Amino acid sequence: MKPSTHRPTKAVINLQAIQENIKQFKKHVAKETEIWAVVKANAYGHGADSVSESIDTLVSGFCVSNLDEAIELRSHGVIKPILILSGIVPEDIHIAVNLRLIVTVPSLDWFKLVAQHLEDVEVEHFNFHIKVDSGMGRIGVTTIAEANAIIALADEIGANFNGIFTHFATADEPSQDKFLDQKEQFDTIVAGLTRRPTYVHSSNSAAGIWHKETVQDIERLGDVMYGLNPSGRVLEMPYKITQALSLISELTHVKEIAAGDSVGYGAEFVADKPTLIGTVPIGYADGWTRNMKGFDVLVNGKRSPIVGRVSMDQITIALDKRYPIGTKVTLIGCDGDEEITVDDVAAYRGTINYEVVCLLSDRVKRSYHDVSET
Ligand SMILES: *Cc1c(COP(=O)(O)O)cnc(C)c1O
Repeated sequence: MKPSTHRPTKAVINLQAIQENIKQFKKHVAKETEIWAVVKANAYGHGADSVSESIDTLVSGFCVSNLDEAIELRSHGVIKPILILSGIVPEDIHIAVNLRLIVTVPSLDWFKLVAQHLEDVEVEHFNFHIKVDSGMGRIGVTTIAEANAIIALADEIGANFNGIFTHFATADEPSQDKFLDQKEQFDTIVAGLTRRPTYVHSSNSAAGIWHKETVQDIERLGDVMYGLNPSGRVLEMPYKITQALSLISELTHVKEIAAGDSVGYGAEFVADKPTLIGTVPIGYADGWTRNMKGFDVLVNGKRSPIVGRVSMDQITIALDKRYPIGTKVTLIGCDGDEEITVDDVAAYRGTINYEVVCLLSDRVKRSYHDVSET
């Protein structure tokens, strides 16, 4: 789906904020660690093409979750290393290798399947990282023997073992137990390898922020780069980050309804007195989910509640006065002294900030300005 560009609803992305957040992170770790920007899921909803382009000189590589996301980056001109974080379909290995993408080997079984599909593959460019399951329980090898069997098979077919990595399940939580357990498991497997690859890495944002002493050759930086705290409100950030995304729209319709009139599906909201109602063109098809009913948006620096059900394409809000059509409505971001953060939305929905930004659908236009200009 193409974005709806003739609609006032848009996500405004502050690229300078993303750049600044990367620089701040570099200061925080203060090591020779390479930063690889995680731009999967359309850069967490921020727009993979524009984000990757704007940070290219600040990072050493990129991480995505699947082959198509990697192809998109290459098509957009990204020439830096791109690591696909999960196993691809074995039959597609020629696409990945011939585009010089780095693949993840999640198991010996997978690697054996890939070894049967090397006909059109320029094997000398077949670069891979082994994924270790140290306790997340999704994908990855779990023993030294399996890792070394992969290295042996790679030597046999001529593929290049460049890296090994793991992923923590609890780096964003106050308790250290599971984290330390996973770290020990990973360190043990790395120590048992027949040879150490160029890149050993384990850190996502949370590990880099709250366990910076454990960051190794690469930091896979996601959430924090977008100015979001990976723990939500559980752990404090050690330094200030700037949220890069705002979500804004405009009033398309303003009217006064009488006591007893209802608004929206199910006629759920019934006015108990004459009430000014504004309509805003955003709904659950944009990722503004139905459970946002009752939450606030900002109009003229004031909080206005969403009344009635969230529809597919529109919401209705109660206004304190009659505003003209075209008046700005802020769903995420600042207006005057008021601010609605991604974490405010996440808390109201009972989810995490990651989900709020990723759910913004393709229909929402992304606009790249400094937020202060809008
Ligand atoms: C998504 C992902 C990351 C980035 O995580 P953040 O918490 O957003 O920093 C890092 N590594 C892997 C394997 C991932 O899937």
